[in-house]
Amino acid sequence: KERNGNEPEFLQAVEEVAETVIPYIVQHDIYYGKNILLRMVEPERVITFRVCWVDDSGEIQVNRGYRIQMNSAIGPYKGGLRFHPTVNMSILKFLAFEQVFKNSLTTLPMGGGKGGSDFDPKGKSDGEIMRFCHSFMSELFRHIGANTDVPAGDIGVGAREIGFLFGMYKKLRNEFTGVLTGKGLSWGGSLIRPEATGYGTVYFAESMLKTKGESLKGKNVVVSGSGNVAQYAAEKSIQLGAKVLTLSDSSGYIYDSEGIDEKKLAYVMELKNVKRGRISEYLEEYPNAKFVKGKTPWEVKCDIALPCATQNELHEADAKMLLNNGCICVSEGANMPSTIDAVHTFQKAKILYAPGKASNAGGVATSGLEMTQNSLRFNWTRDEVDLKLKEIMANIHDSCIKYGKEDDGYVNYVKGANIAGFVKVADAMLAQGIV
Ligand code: NDP
Repeated sequence: KERNGNEPEFLQAVEEVAETVIPYIVQHDIYYGKNILLRMVEPERVITFRVCWVDDSGEIQVNRGYRIQMNSAIGPYKGGLRFHPTVNMSILKFLAFEQVFKNSLTTLPMGGGKGGSDFDPKGKSDGEIMRFCHSFMSELFRHIGANTDVPAGDIGVGAREIGFLFGMYKKLRNEFTGVLTGKGLSWGGSLIRPEATGYGTVYFAESMLKTKGESLKGKNVVVSGSGNVAQYAAEKSIQLGAKVLTLSDSSGYIYDSEGIDEKKLAYVMELKNVKRGRISEYLEEYPNAKFVKGKTPWEVKCDIALPCATQNELHEADAKMLLNNGCICVSEGANMPSTIDAVHTFQKAKILYAPGKASNAGGVATSGLEMTQNSLRFNWTRDEVDLKLKEIMANIHDSCIKYGKEDDGYVNYVKGANIAGFVKVADAMLAQGIV
């Protein structure tokens, strides 16, 4: 706390891990007294750099770029890039820290990292986005590589941005490698990567529900966000027979009591990914829906909640509202969307609750599969990748049960994910000595 006092999101992420991992360390001599968690909370390397670019009016703009290389004990640093005006050291360190545990849980050999910029892509032309991405990569390229650090997308960084970033990396290095994931299909991308985080979040929800003899079929689902993760969480929920009632963005949420079906979702994808519009424009096509300005969708009655927008979007009062409305399952697509108090509220009520580091790990897992395919110079089919994704999510669920099942039978998925993620990284760090 003394060293990172001005980094609230990072402290929050560490506190959530410490709550469950410290008691485990105390009970296990191989970890006790080795300051292992203290080592894990200090990034191996932090890089910040200036990103200058020229906007469409000819003015020079300056942003700050970052890459946090958190932990490489079990593989090259791996984690997304976020472009959003709220990006700062605290946000990226929390994301990088979470990523270490998440990547470990996937069972694939990936360390943890995260990066990005306070650049705001909203309202920018394609030309401005390209110039920014090229400038960003003109510095980042010296710090990354297929065997060193492999960034991917996150908020504000989708297929378009990965394309521009990859193009500049390739030009500067004069080599075609799998240095970024989330690439286009014709130049090294993997099938199912765009869908993976959202699909994985729903597969995880299905596994949790199964422990209670339930499934998504016929359930009412509330989704927040309308970006990459939210879109595919909604798609898989619909495919599994659920009724999706909401989507949102930073201006508010839409509520469609008839359910957002595949046709309506295709409209949302076009609206958000191609036209880059606002979710409120859903009403222009579907006027029976409602737009609730400035609010999050947690007030809507549902069985299942899938928070897929951003950190700290679900507070204690929201958690209570969800419980009062009969919600039985929360599977996080976003990173740390629930505050610590909200998490405790879910756990106290003993409902099914999965933290993002477990339930949204499908994205990075499929990025890991993209890395494997790049190394093999070979592509798996859609069904092959989807099957591997399903297996990985099921394994993560099993690991959570192994380490998180309590005496009364309740599965504490936070505890399970934290300890399972910790053990693998800690063992590797101990084996490698103090480096
Ligand atoms: P996108 O940029 O595609 O979408 C983000 C969505 O969240 C948009 O609807 C956006 O609305 C909304 N949002 C962003 N910031 C805020 C905010 N401060 N308040 C309210 N709404 C906000 O990002 P992704 O879908 O890729 O990422 C969503 C979450 O999932 C993030 O937490 C990310 O870290 C996490 N994640 C993503 C993975 C991936 O593979 N993409 C992998 C694992 C986790 P608006 O357009 O108004 O900003």
